Amino acid sequence: MFKLENLVRNNIKNLEPYSSARDEYKGDAKILLDANENGMGNLFFNGDNALENNYHRYPDPQQSHLKKAIARLKGLNENSIFLGNGSDECIDVLYRCFCEPSKDNVIICPPTYGMYKVAANIQNVEIREVLLKPDFQMNCSKIEKAIDENTKLIWLCSPNNPTGNIIERSSIIQLLQEFRGIVVVDEAYIDFSSEPSLLSFLQNYPNLVILQTFSKAWGLAGLRLGMAFASPAIITIMNKVKPPYNINTITQEYIISAIAAVTVIDTTITKIVANRKKLAANLADFPFVRKVFNSDANFLLVKMDNAKSIYRYLLTEGIVVRNRSDEPLCSNCLRITVGSDKDNDLLIKALTKYSTITDEKSFVY
Ligand SMILES: *Cc1c(COP(=O)(O)O)cnc(C)c1O
Repeated sequence: MFKLENLVRNNIKNLEPYSSARDEYKGDAKILLDANENGMGNLFFNGDNALENNYHRYPDPQQSHLKKAIARLKGLNENSIFLGNGSDECIDVLYRCFCEPSKDNVIICPPTYGMYKVAANIQNVEIREVLLKPDFQMNCSKIEKAIDENTKLIWLCSPNNPTGNIIERSSIIQLLQEFRGIVVVDEAYIDFSSEPSLLSFLQNYPNLVILQTFSKAWGLAGLRLGMAFASPAIITIMNKVKPPYNINTITQEYIISAIAAVTVIDTTITKIVANRKKLAANLADFPFVRKVFNSDANFLLVKMDNAKSIYRYLLTEGIVVRNRSDEPLCSNCLRITVGSDKDNDLLIKALTKYSTITDEKSFVY
């Protein structure tokens, strides 16, 4: 049986969270002398403009306006939303809420996103790696064997980075039903997928946490906004642990405007998905390409005859892709982000040149 209070670390259960000046006073006062801000204004602007953009004030620690906009966008209640300085902060906060260092463990399914492991190592939390199967689906029976009484979190990524595939719903549901810890499903790439998000599952599974981000489909990686969606009970614990002012004012304001312009994102996604299809077909035509894996994301995993030398060659052409050859199940694989039309054309031109050079057998990278 899932019981949240059995999962939360004791020190977190008893934690008295920091109460900021902006938490304690939420009204519309004329004069704010409670937070030691600079009442003269933002020094980057001189004179009359100094007070214009409110950057001399701390941001809203609860991000209420932004959460209202995201709640409408996702069809959720605000108390089911946690906002992080990128999903990476959501990942870190989940460890700090639930995993006792040197005692608890988590399960990850490589090849997958690297931060689940790094964040665990930072907190000194044991990682149990259960490889995906050769078809990149999760190995449920091995996961069940790896679980013990100290297993707090299972990390799934769907669509998975770097393989690009969706993890089958039926196996995620099985895990949600059987595991008495928390299942985290990272949906950073869900907007590019033909499959729907698991958000509707939140009502039925109190042990589900879903991560999404503004870094990929929304094209706002530089603003750092990640989201965790879960039961209000889990969100309350996460809010206790986060730094008070973790989402800055510019990000809060800018993303409220971005959400108001929501139709723009649909056009972008359609375009990227069309470019993914075209790029996959173009790549598959090269004699040195063994396989272009199906992708539900904005990148392609591509198996090649000599991935490392192609990776180095592309660098000499000023093109950077991600070499994933050393990841399990990914030998000789490059991960290539679907770019703009121009980016994709330049990549194909460079690879065409590579195939003529290597035909002459005179060139070694
Ligand atoms: C890119 C990516 C993220 C996004 O991280 P942010 O910190 O929100 O930029 C999260 N998870 C996966 C699997 C990713 O590939």
